[in-house]
Amino acid sequence: MAPSKVLAGARVVLPTGTVDDGRLAVDGTRIAAQAPPGAEIVDLSGHWVVPGFVDLHNHGGGGASFTSGTAEEVLRGIHTHRLHGTTTLVASTVTGDLDFLARRAGLLAELAEQGDIAGIHFEGPFISPCRKGAHSEELLRDPDPAQVRKLVDAARGHARMVTLATELPGGIASVRMLADQGVIAAVGHTDATYEQTVEAIEAGARVATHLFNAMPPLGHRAPGPITALLEDERVTVELINDGVHLHPAALRLAFHHAGAARVAFITDAMDAAGFGDGRYMLGPLEVEVEGGVARLVDGGSIAGSTLTLDRAFKRAVTVDGLPVEDAVAALSANPARLLGLSDRVGSLEPGKDADLVVLDAAFDVKGVMRRGAWVVDPRLG
Ligand SMILES: [Zn+2]
Repeated sequence: MAPSKVLAGARVVLPTGTVDDGRLAVDGTRIAAQAPPGAEIVDLSGHWVVPGFVDLHNHGGGGASFTSGTAEEVLRGIHTHRLHGTTTLVASTVTGDLDFLARRAGLLAELAEQGDIAGIHFEGPFISPCRKGAHSEELLRDPDPAQVRKLVDAARGHARMVTLATELPGGIASVRMLADQGVIAAVGHTDATYEQTVEAIEAGARVATHLFNAMPPLGHRAPGPITALLEDERVTVELINDGVHLHPAALRLAFHHAGAARVAFITDAMDAAGFGDGRYMLGPLEVEVEGGVARLVDGGSIAGSTLTLDRAFKRAVTVDGLPVEDAVAALSANPARLLGLSDRVGSLEPGKDADLVVLDAAFDVKGVMRRGAWVVDPRLG
C-alpha cells in the first residue's frame, strides 16, 4: 500500500473548477476528502495538478506494438505512455487476419484482467478500402455482424470499441449488435455520406474515429461524415492533436461545433511514440518515422502518430489556446465517461483512483501518479 500524501500548493483542476493553492489528499490508492494523520506533505507550488490522461485509441509506444508485441513488450509500451501522463489506456489493434486478431484479443484481455489496460479497441479489418490509411488492403473485409462478434467474444468482455466503415454491407447490423453488447461502435476509415453516417448514429454509433482523418472531407453539397458526427450530441469525436494530423483551424472548428464535452484527444500512437525515428512495422506494413512523423514506406500515407498525451495537452493550451479545463475534459473526463469509468477515473474527486499528472508552468510533465503510487516522482525531477 502506497503511503498517504497531501499534494499542496498547486493549481488543482477539479470538476468544480480550478483551485489555486489547492490541497489534494491521497490515502492509499484513492483520492481522499481529508488527509489521514501523519500524511506526507508534497510541496507542488508553481505546478498544476490535473487528472491522469485517458487514451481511447493507442497502438503502441516505447518501440512496442499492441498488435504484434509479446505481453512483456506491450507492458513496456503501456509504461512508456504512463511516463507521459496516460494512466488509463485502451489498446488498439490494426487490421490483421481475423484468427490472428482473435488470438491477439486473448492476450490483451489478460492484460485487461490484470488492470494494465482498460480494454481493447479493434480498428480494422471492417473498414473501407477507399479510406484504408495504414491498414493492409488485402485483409480488409465487410463488417459481417457474426465476424465482428467473433472478435468481441474473443476479448472476453474487454472489447471497448470497434471502428467500422458503417456504410459497408453489414455495417448497420454490426453497429446494432455492438450497441447491444455494450461495445462502442465508432465510425471511421469510412467513405460514408452524410446520410449514411446519420443512419449509423441512429443505429447506435457513438464515436468518430480520428475525426477528419481517413474520411471524406467536408463539402458544402456533400457534408459527409464529418458534419453528421459533429452535429449529433450523442457522438464523441476523437482528435489527434499533434500538429500533423490536423490544421489548428480544423481542431478549433471541431471544438467550436462539438463543444468541450464531446471531444476526446487521442494519440493513435504507434511503436515509435516515446522511442524515436526509424523503421517500424505497423501490423504487416512497413513504416518510416522521420522527425516524429510516421508514414507508410509504400505510398507515404500517415501511419498513426508518435504522439503522447502530455504533448497533446501542452499543444491544446499553448498553441490552440484552449482553457486548461477544456483540455482536461478532452484528455480525461470525456474519454473516462465514454468508457463507463467515471466512477473510478477522469476527475480528481474523493473516492476515485489517485491518478494524476503534475505539470510545471510550461505544461511539461514533472510527475505522474497512478493508483496512489508515483510513476514519475516530482521530487526527483
Ligand atoms: Zn488507429
